[in-house]
Amino acid sequence: MTTATELYEFNTANWALDNSFMEQLTDPGESYTAVCPFYLVDHPEGTAVVDTGLSHDMLDDPASYGQHGAEFMEAFLPAIEYGPEMHPRAQLEDVGYSPEDIDYLVLTHLHSDHAGHIDTFPDAEIIVREEELRYAHWPVPVQEVFYLEGDFDMLRSGAYDVTPVRGEYDVFGDGSLVTFPTPGHTPGHQSVQVELPETGTVILGADIAHKESGYEREHLASFNYDLSQSIESLRALKARARREGAEVFVTHDNEHIEMMADGLR
Ligand SMILES: [Zn+2]
Repeated sequence: MTTATELYEFNTANWALDNSFMEQLTDPGESYTAVCPFYLVDHPEGTAVVDTGLSHDMLDDPASYGQHGAEFMEAFLPAIEYGPEMHPRAQLEDVGYSPEDIDYLVLTHLHSDHAGHIDTFPDAEIIVREEELRYAHWPVPVQEVFYLEGDFDMLRSGAYDVTPVRGEYDVFGDGSLVTFPTPGHTPGHQSVQVELPETGTVILGADIAHKESGYEREHLASFNYDLSQSIESLRALKARARREGAEVFVTHDNEHIEMMADGLR
């Protein structure tokens, strides 16, 4: 643990997708390599991880993942690159943390590329929006492929400490790590604001947009739950970023992860 808040980003998988999938109707046929990261927030009072990336157990054997399997993920496998060194446990251990040391796990939403390694953090208090927990079990058809029971069913076991949240939530109680609702991509999607001593305010927009250019141009993903609500949340987040003088990072932009390669302080 440090004396001031620090923020790190780690990638669990590279997923090559058609660009128009990430940024609606833009450059169809061109491939874009999306990263599937998780973040570590080291705070004087404890540690938090934000999201958990894409499950390697699922990628190793989709058909046996969770109660009903995830065979439909097999079609995506040739486009996904990952390895044991990209597992959250391995990457945290590389920088001197054990997953058992993590106090809080903030989940922006429960899509498979964000919630794939929850079981690596059985001791963490899990902060997720109540609406997302409900929706994950019965999503709209276009989002069924993104919600894998193998990722999150264990949250119902009672062995996990789950805090379902509704509005804004101040994780450490000092404004340094605050989650706030940004529905649209999914009904229970939330973004995360981090206060850093040197960098200032950073907003982890999660899937508020899938790329920097999509964020700027407000070209979102076609498979979002509600596009007009997505735009509303995106504009509210932009207004918040202006007000706070915040730098915004979105999860899947492969340049954003580069910008955080040495961590932010
Ligand atoms: Zn998502």
